[in-house]
Amino acid sequence: MILTDTHTHLYSEEFSDDRDQMMQRAFDAGVKRLFVPSIDSSYTQAMYELEAKYPENVFLMMGLHPTYVKENYEEELAHVERELAKRKFAAVGEIGIDLYWDKSTLKQQQYAFKHQIQLAKQYNLPINIHCRDAFDEVFEVLESEKGDDLFGIFHCFTGDFEQAQKAISYNMKLGIGGVATFKNGKIDQFLNEIPLEHIVLETDSPYLAPVPHRGKRNESSYTLLVAQKLALIYNLPVEEIAQITTQNAVNLFGI
Ligand SMILES: [Zn+2]
Repeated sequence: MILTDTHTHLYSEEFSDDRDQMMQRAFDAGVKRLFVPSIDSSYTQAMYELEAKYPENVFLMMGLHPTYVKENYEEELAHVERELAKRKFAAVGEIGIDLYWDKSTLKQQQYAFKHQIQLAKQYNLPINIHCRDAFDEVFEVLESEKGDDLFGIFHCFTGDFEQAQKAISYNMKLGIGGVATFKNGKIDQFLNEIPLEHIVLETDSPYLAPVPHRGKRNESSYTLLVAQKLALIYNLPVEEIAQITTQNAVNLFGI
């Protein structure tokens, strides 16, 4: 059984003390494919080092995270552009709009999101969307950029059924993680009405650990817990959930 974690911050300081053991636990749980979103330029070097250490398992994205859109965002976007021009990435991400932490930067966030979607199109790459308290704002940008060359993942999808259908209409897979295991997470209520071909698994580690680790540090080995929850929701063997969602990730990323 091969599981794919489509969103994991392996370079996080949270793993400084036991990163190699954490990686081994992921491999032991069958999580052999790990896709790593970028946050800002301060983590780029650590991402390259991880990739060099685990070239068969670690796949990197490049992008500026919406909560890191600050006064220097133009410099940060120039960094994203330079890295994309330099080498191959799996996706442009994570990018999007976050109005939970800071509403004052909405204009800059919208600009950065749209600009990075255009970069993804230029390199024929999928995007990895971060959306928090900003469904309308994210959909507005997607609407303005929609087309065959727009595709990717709506990471940590937490919307309702209509928002799920809308995301899918823009060629987005739904990234499902720990929230699906929460009692009040809501998405488990309608997920079985969404065909599995639109679903990929993720952890967003070190954040949003699934039950029974809720509130503690998350790690990629817990992708298995998400797969087990989906096996219950879809009434399928966990092996089949793993196979289909890994294939979805292969089709999307091309790796
Ligand atoms: Zn993330």
